[in-house]
Amino acid sequence: MKAHNFSAGPCILPQGVLKQASDAVLNFDNLGLSLIEISHRSKNFVAVVEKTEALIKELMGIPAGYSVLFLQGGASLEFVMVAMNLMKEEGGKAAYMDTGTWANKAIKEAKRFGEVTVVGNSSDKNYNYIPKGFSIPGGMDYFHCTSNNTIYGTQVKNFVKPANCLNVCDMSSDIMSRTVNVADFDLIYAGAQKNMGPAGATVVIVKDEILGETGRDLPSYLNYQTHIDKDSMFNTPPVFAIYVMMLTMQWLKDNGGISWVEGVNQQKADLLYTEIDRNPLFKGTAEVEDRSNMNACFLLTNEALKEPFDALWKAAGVSGINGHRSVGGYRASMYNALPLESVAVLVNAMQELEKNHR
Ligand SMILES: *Cc1c(COP(=O)(O)O)cnc(C)c1O
Repeated sequence: MKAHNFSAGPCILPQGVLKQASDAVLNFDNLGLSLIEISHRSKNFVAVVEKTEALIKELMGIPAGYSVLFLQGGASLEFVMVAMNLMKEEGGKAAYMDTGTWANKAIKEAKRFGEVTVVGNSSDKNYNYIPKGFSIPGGMDYFHCTSNNTIYGTQVKNFVKPANCLNVCDMSSDIMSRTVNVADFDLIYAGAQKNMGPAGATVVIVKDEILGETGRDLPSYLNYQTHIDKDSMFNTPPVFAIYVMMLTMQWLKDNGGISWVEGVNQQKADLLYTEIDRNPLFKGTAEVEDRSNMNACFLLTNEALKEPFDALWKAAGVSGINGHRSVGGYRASMYNALPLESVAVLVNAMQELEKNHR
């Protein structure tokens, strides 16, 4: 039996995608060769890169003038590349929202390249809300936000649109889970392993005209322009990760695209949060208006029930809901490929606990 996989990342992928990917590892395109033992410059693989890029552009409605890149090093390397490619060498400045662990890591790297101003900070309440109503000072090269805070279970519902600087977003844990207007952003990045595919590839969506303005001499790999010029083939790309991403994008398209999955994600989140709010044995950790449709964080109101609750969800085949150490309790990640039925199974375990311990 397949487990109900609520893992925070790497995430659940569609079963059909895993089957197709396993087939291609043994025999790709009927070549009698594995996907992972052919040249990345062969026409069969170049077609994979082109199709993945085309699907992402189509599904997200990416306007002309943007490039889609497949890089490595995860979102963590993007913390560095964004600052190197967008902060002026002389007097570089950027504004960052501080919404938790990942935002902090991005801030730490950016500080190596210029002056960082934190605008909006929710550390006073262990990052259980999204800061709002702040202003972005003038003279910034860019504004950076994290759209979904995987660890704390908060999600930006209304994006800030900075008036006088570039807009950069780490969308690692909710990319393609909901409709966003790409034209509102100058650069979006995401480690693929939370909603798009397996670990190993990072997707960067960048507005071409913003590059080359810093005066900085960039190492080739760390320069976005290199990857635009070489169509993500500057060096050997992560072939398996890109292929599985292509299959996942095709799965998304065949089912109705982002508007379809956004609706399903809303249903899943509504089902779980309704139970968290209703069931007296549980409480959510994030502010209601900011809570994430991807990662729901919740606690038991009585810690003594941990053992019986853990036994119930494990027996029901639920996997991956232990909370992150910085929040504790439970975290149920409901990425695109998680079926609604899996959430129903978890909710059922929560109701069982209530019946047994009333
Ligand atoms: C997981 C995650 C990261 C880190 O991604 P890596 O690809 O492991 O470097 C960064 N930002 C957010 C929001 C994440 O959820």
